[in-house]
Amino acid sequence: MKDPVDFSIGQPDFDAPEAVKKAAIKAIKEGHNRYSQTAGTEELLCKIAGGLKAEFGWDSPKVLATSGVSGGLLLAFLALINPGDEVIVPDPYFVIYKHVVNMLGGKCVFVDCYPGFGLDAGRIAEAITDRTKLIIINSPCNPTGAVYDRETLKDIADIASKNNIVILSDEIYNIFCYDSPFASIAGIYEKTILLRGFGKNYAITGWRLGYAAVGGALAEVIEQMTKIQQYTFVCAPTPFQKAAAAAMECDVTKHVIAYRKKRDLIYDGLKDKFEIVKPGGAFYAFVKAPGGRGSEFAEKAIANNVLVIPGNVFSEKDTHFRISYATSDEKIKKGIEILRGLA
Ligand code: PMP
Repeated sequence: MKDPVDFSIGQPDFDAPEAVKKAAIKAIKEGHNRYSQTAGTEELLCKIAGGLKAEFGWDSPKVLATSGVSGGLLLAFLALINPGDEVIVPDPYFVIYKHVVNMLGGKCVFVDCYPGFGLDAGRIAEAITDRTKLIIINSPCNPTGAVYDRETLKDIADIASKNNIVILSDEIYNIFCYDSPFASIAGIYEKTILLRGFGKNYAITGWRLGYAAVGGALAEVIEQMTKIQQYTFVCAPTPFQKAAAAAMECDVTKHVIAYRKKRDLIYDGLKDKFEIVKPGGAFYAFVKAPGGRGSEFAEKAIANNVLVIPGNVFSEKDTHFRISYATSDEKIKKGIEILRGLA
């Protein structure tokens, strides 16, 4: 395609902060090019643990640096899921969950969150059986941009606690929150496996860096994940772990403010022509397809030079399409104009 409007990409369009690039180069030049400890460099783990102590009041967090949040997800699923185990997944969902759970012989139990994309604790409760191993929470959510408030998370934590179920909280978009302060279930429920990343926040997705962390109650899970990391990834990339420690000092607020503006552009530009829920975070909008079929509409959009992803990639339904607005304001405006013409 010649110069398409690319609304398909799940990564920021800004470049990595200069200080982070310099820290990576420095780390390589200074010879931090070998394996680190399996769990990560002392410096990075201490820095992350310090932040989590302050944020959640955890006494002694256990942290594992992972090869992206994808690495953390794989290790968590490998550590926890046995064949026949059920995993509760709010639908729409991030693609990896379903396929890795299936690969391990687990079974996803989807909780339908259409049309508003909020999480309903009552519906999560209905999905629990004696085979339920895990509940996945992803806020801000890919692909819907939904952000769950503290109240909702508290209700879900109560249900998980009553049934003694572990929660996996994928918080890769935690800084991209536009209308309210970010709330984490890790600060509410002690049996939470927290996954966070560096890729989206600092525009370094190619560096493959994230972390998994737990409070004392799930220390054993991190130990098992660390053991599996030893036999698979070995460690997260060492020089980038050094750079990630530097990244944690960087203020990326200006990018979040720019992305809020992009969110407004997309929402205001489409809301009178499409059925669209205002996204509260991440950089996606999940829009109802005119005509009812997401895959058909995506084909039509692509034929008109706008790349979007059909909703059935992220859902058991094929009624929506995903827009990533992580692109220039000019491209967003152009994409809106073309999509409006197809509505
Ligand atoms: N979780 C979610 C919700 C995501 O959107 C992504 C990336 N698209 C990931 C995890 C994986 O991120 P990483 O690049 O850090 O592996």
